[in-house]
Amino acid sequence: MLELVVPNDKKNAWRTQRTLEPRLSALLWMGVFAALFLVVLMPQPLGILALVAVTILRLIFSVGLEPTLFLLGAFNVCNKIIFLISFVGNRGTFTRGYKAMVMDFEFLYHLIYLIICCLGVFGHVFFYSLLLFDLVYREETLLNVIKSVTRNGRSIVLTAVLALILVYLFSIVGYIFFKDDFILEVDRISNATQNSGGSLAGEFLSTGMCQGGIDENCSTNAQQEEPGIDSEDESNMERTCDSLLMCIVTVLSHGLRSGGGVGDVLRKPSKEEPLFAARVIYDLLFFFMVIIIVLNLIFGVIIDTFADLRSEKQKKEEILKTTCFICGLERDKFDNKTVTFEEHIKEEHNMWHYLYFIVLVKVKDSTEYTGPESYVAEMIKEHNLDWFPRMRAMSLVSSDSEGEQNEIRNLQEKLESTMRLVVNLSGQLTELKEQMTEQRKQKQRIGLLGHPPHLNINPQQPA
Ligand SMILES: [Zn+2]
Repeated sequence: MLELVVPNDKKNAWRTQRTLEPRLSALLWMGVFAALFLVVLMPQPLGILALVAVTILRLIFSVGLEPTLFLLGAFNVCNKIIFLISFVGNRGTFTRGYKAMVMDFEFLYHLIYLIICCLGVFGHVFFYSLLLFDLVYREETLLNVIKSVTRNGRSIVLTAVLALILVYLFSIVGYIFFKDDFILEVDRISNATQNSGGSLAGEFLSTGMCQGGIDENCSTNAQQEEPGIDSEDESNMERTCDSLLMCIVTVLSHGLRSGGGVGDVLRKPSKEEPLFAARVIYDLLFFFMVIIIVLNLIFGVIIDTFADLRSEKQKKEEILKTTCFICGLERDKFDNKTVTFEEHIKEEHNMWHYLYFIVLVKVKDSTEYTGPESYVAEMIKEHNLDWFPRMRAMSLVSSDSEGEQNEIRNLQEKLESTMRLVVNLSGQLTELKEQMTEQRKQKQRIGLLGHPPHLNINPQQPA
């Protein structure tokens, strides 16, 4: 029932803002009491969440939006301060020293979070929108999106530097040879708005540019604007390559952003012009070198890094799912065994039980140790992990020994058969030896009688 009430009220909240129909108001009050009743009766996270949501809605309509926001913001600040203190205490940050505390990324993150909360309460409400980035911090997939840029940041930055060098070279060539081709269409602000509304921003921009030390640019801008305003109605075209700086800015901004390179925004040349071929080569070179090769290299690095991070995450999750944390045995080792893998990691090698045991050993008085406890205490002191059952489990031992015995039996059988073979072979060998000696004797006898060598073939036949 509660889940039905809450979304209905939320929808109406957006439609009617602060004033609420009496019927809906009563419904909201009912929702508050129902949620309160539910929480008191059986306190569960979902029920508490619903109560908080309904109460916030009720507050918005009873007190108003801004006081509610201030109330929530103040509560959030208090919550965060308490969290930060407990965080520092849990991490032992005070014992590690202040330098380690400042360098700790997580501490800094929560500190910035707290500062944003304070700014939201005492500064402007819009600061709260920055807190949405907390979602990125909490969700690993989104964190990977950011990591895919930062992890190979060096190669991305270097490739971008290469792109900048190419843009610089192309703008120099453009400045020397194709100055007249850099004529871009601009949308001018109409005179009236420029004088009234746009003047402030325009002044700010122009003074900013001049203070930045680009004096030539300011003067050229001023020079360009005066005739521009006069001939505004007839043409919206503007020369954008009268100084090298303007050339670089144009090639950088328009060249990188258009799909076909800088050639897309330049004047279309006629084929009778002397520089027509040069323009074609210029446009094509820019397209191939900057747009196709360099930009795609940057994209490729980012996408590859993201794929790597995703596969790493999957591998990590798979290892956590299919491997026992304590002994490191995989799920398939428990196939056809008396215990399943789930029972094993829940009952036999429950990692929390190991943690409890370590805490027990640390808390317990050393004079009251039992035998195993003193053994483990000694191991922990030496940072030795040999007391963990590495690649072993009690439930697998008996079946393991059976398997070993089987193997030994197999080996014995094989050994016996090979022994028999060896005996056979040695018998045959001795027979052969006897025959050979006999042959030799016969040969000698024949040799003594002085017969020709063709008889030598005969003695071989019996062999
Ligand atoms: Zn295990």
